[in-house]
Amino acid sequence: EYVILNGGLIERSEAKVDIEDRGYQFGDGVYEVIRVYNGKMFTADEHLERLLESGKKIELNIPYSIGQLKQMLAEMIERNNLELGIVYMQFSRGTSPRNHAYPGADVAPVLTAYTRETSRPVESMRNGVKAILIEDIRWLRCDIKSLNLLGNIMAKQKAAQTGCFEAIQHRGNTVTEGSSSNVAIVKNGKLYTHPATNLILNGITRRKINEICTENGVALEESAFTKDDLLDADEVFMSSTSAEITPITEIEGKPIGNGSPGPITNKLQNLFEEAIEKQCGS
Ligand code: PMP
Repeated sequence: EYVILNGGLIERSEAKVDIEDRGYQFGDGVYEVIRVYNGKMFTADEHLERLLESGKKIELNIPYSIGQLKQMLAEMIERNNLELGIVYMQFSRGTSPRNHAYPGADVAPVLTAYTRETSRPVESMRNGVKAILIEDIRWLRCDIKSLNLLGNIMAKQKAAQTGCFEAIQHRGNTVTEGSSSNVAIVKNGKLYTHPATNLILNGITRRKINEICTENGVALEESAFTKDDLLDADEVFMSSTSAEITPITEIEGKPIGNGSPGPITNKLQNLFEEAIEKQCGS
């Protein structure tokens, strides 16, 4: 099993980071997760562009081009014979004596990346999952894919403790996003999803779904919706790199629609599948 440490492929057991790595101490860094189907990365350019953007937003300079990053990841995927799974990649701001202010330009970011075999969540994509509602206590730069995930993991843990798959967060009455996913609702044939502001991560899956809607005549509105809209929706689904399009069929113990995945969700799942096949083969 090979991993990437600072641009080179090495055995996982050889990969060591310093205890004063700023990612470890402060969560000072950014990351991405990219799906691999048939040994090929899906929407790699979009993910790597977002990684560079996240870096820019925190003044962390990532010294690689998208092409270079893609090539490194492809090499790792090949060396590890990964057919179906994910690659995880992160840049921390580097290693230097602990101090909140950023270190000087002589300190290079630390890159780590690895692969993991994972199947597609076929069962939950078919049958749907349960979710809870929870106040969104995160900071106001949720558009940055930051290593700091305390708000997200605390929300997810609450869901897990109650036997639910996801925690849908809201700021007051406004629904923002899941703990590790975007959330969309369908009402009277129209899809609603929170606009790509500072309050959500603009998911690559979310963007692909929006593109699919536009290309296939599914009405789409990128506008915020309330907790009541969510609970009264005909259909609800979450989207992410790992969960793809997963129907949410029960929230806070109440069924959504008739309690099973709806027709528009199913249609989008089929079109998303086609997009995967087009890029990665079947
Ligand atoms: N929002 C949050 C908070 C997330 O952690 C994720 C998953 N990375 C998403 C949305 C979905 O993003 P993507 O579709 O790019 O995986």
